[in-house]
Amino acid sequence: MRLVLVGPPGAGKGTQAQFLAAHYSIPHISTGDIFRANLKAGTPLGLQAKGFMDNGELVPDSVTNEMVKDRLTHDDVANGFLLDGFPRNVAQAEVLRAILAEKKTPLHAVLEFSLANEEIVARLSSRRTCKDCFQPSVGVEKCPSCGGDVYQREDDKEEVIAKRLSVYQEQTAPIVHFYRTEGLLVTIAADGEVSEITDRAITALSRVHG
Ligand SMILES: [Zn+2]
Repeated sequence: MRLVLVGPPGAGKGTQAQFLAAHYSIPHISTGDIFRANLKAGTPLGLQAKGFMDNGELVPDSVTNEMVKDRLTHDDVANGFLLDGFPRNVAQAEVLRAILAEKKTPLHAVLEFSLANEEIVARLSSRRTCKDCFQPSVGVEKCPSCGGDVYQREDDKEEVIAKRLSVYQEQTAPIVHFYRTEGLLVTIAADGEVSEITDRAITALSRVHG
């Protein structure tokens, strides 16, 4: 299964990514992990990225694209992969399509998590983070892991969430449109229990990939 995940902040995409990667026995590839691996190993691409970051600049798409391309040559993607956090724009989606076309291994599906804005705001704004172990939890007064005091991150305040959502929609709407046109888009509702959402995803994906 070769899969891309798309979803707004607060839709539980990261959690679902782990379950789906385990279900299909494929690696969960996030751009964050690729960056960390390249920086840690001091690869030429990692050093290039570090140069930009040290100057306080964004790492350009060309470097990210090369890292993804390199990652997709590793042996563990023989069975497929789940990409999370890439592509972030239509230009990257086109690069990905070209990389996979060259390998004759096109995507099977792009799974979109759909959640109403009010639900996203409600979830994120009730999230609290532990001052001691930094674990996030929803609707708690003390940390369920260590009993520490919790606080609300700046990012999880309602006015900031609204901003994050509008940035997400601006960036993602064109990607969703691109993949719908390609006939790859599979959209599921991201409300309810974690296990329900996983089941829903697997059922929806079974229609495009047995
Ligand atoms: Zn804690």
